[in-house]
Amino acid sequence: MKTLKKQIGELGIREGTSLFVHSSLKAIGSDVKAEELIAALQSSVGKEGTLLFPTFSSRKEDYFDPDTTPSVLGVVTEIFRTMPGTLRSRNPRHPVAARGPAAQILIEDHEHAIGPCGSGTPFEKHARSDGQILLIGVDFDTLTLLHTAEALLDLPYLHVVEGKYLDSDGNVQHISMHQVPGGHRGGVRLFEKEFRKRGLIRYGQAGDARTMLMDAGKILDVMIELLQANPAAALCKGDYCPDCTNFKAKIRARQLSDLGTEVSIILSELPDDPDLFKEMIRRFCGHARFGLLSDLNIVRVPKGKKTPAPPDHMHSWILQPAPVDLMKYESLPPGYNGFAYAPLEAARAGIQPFYDVLYKSKCRDSITDIFIEDGLSNLSGMNSPAINYIHMFCGNGRVALGDGHAQLREIISALRMRNFTGRYHLIIPEGNLFIETLSILKEFWNLIP
Ligand SMILES: [Zn+2]
Repeated sequence: MKTLKKQIGELGIREGTSLFVHSSLKAIGSDVKAEELIAALQSSVGKEGTLLFPTFSSRKEDYFDPDTTPSVLGVVTEIFRTMPGTLRSRNPRHPVAARGPAAQILIEDHEHAIGPCGSGTPFEKHARSDGQILLIGVDFDTLTLLHTAEALLDLPYLHVVEGKYLDSDGNVQHISMHQVPGGHRGGVRLFEKEFRKRGLIRYGQAGDARTMLMDAGKILDVMIELLQANPAAALCKGDYCPDCTNFKAKIRARQLSDLGTEVSIILSELPDDPDLFKEMIRRFCGHARFGLLSDLNIVRVPKGKKTPAPPDHMHSWILQPAPVDLMKYESLPPGYNGFAYAPLEAARAGIQPFYDVLYKSKCRDSITDIFIEDGLSNLSGMNSPAINYIHMFCGNGRVALGDGHAQLREIISALRMRNFTGRYHLIIPEGNLFIETLSILKEFWNLIP
């Protein structure tokens, strides 16, 4: 049988590199000692190389002292931390221990970085200085570098946490740390698939444990790319994980504020338990107004009827003419603050909701309120005997948002380009208010980028 030293020597660790190690001694085998593992790793990086281990604290101490606060990440990290010549950074949550020529430069100023894992931390500096990462018998859920990617993108689900540490003069310092990770990340195992696809993992063996060796900078870039494309990529896909559900709500709330729009939920009746209903919405997108259509300050004018003056000057009133009349407006009538527009109603009147109203008409820049509802209509050219069978599946004419004739996808995309700062009113069909609202919210979020 090969010795551990020989196995480690064959993993592909570059001599002179900075090697960040996440390991499980138990996974390697019961007869292996922590000192033996550290010595084998040390010999692989050589005299010019630097070893790094995470040595996170329990956070239960009054303050973090790099010299005495133990690492809670297992015996290897604790032995490494207490070896002569090992340095340790002063961030009270995610301290890193390092040994070797690059140790000082990698760990210094960790306590002054904006957060424990992002810019200016040992994790980021190590990745940006051509370092390697080695996972020994542990999975990607131990990879702190994920939180570096999250922090560099300033994802909305990161927290602010207070902490205390002992500075080099022996004084206790108090800091507010931003971009602090915490909570579950059920989607992170899928990242391995992506790294493997791009040939970024070198697999190996140490004792009984599987090892994965990677270039930190390259996998950091891939994680940034994946999280940029989908900020929820590291989170659980389902709706039942409490942490990931809350985090997704924060991402959606940030999306809305980035878009500069608001969402309002229009119910046919008020819920019996409004607080519970509000809580459900909060867990989906942070916040949204909800109520009855009649609660909105909208004056609805039937087709062909004259525009009345707004009812009072106490409120800001929105005018909702029939779509065929709306198209003819050159500007807003006096006293009104905007037009409300129902694309599905336009489709039902035989008007193309996007092209005729939001593309061609002069009224388009004054539209502030959009009713989000979808369905099938008699829009010319849209229905044919060949697709009429669809009516058999949706007797009430309701289809998922974006699938029907309201052209919601085009409308939302065009409004986004135009920096629309109005409101989207989601019309909730009759039925179980909770189920219907959640399903419409999900459909709506499928439409927004
Ligand atoms: Zn989760």
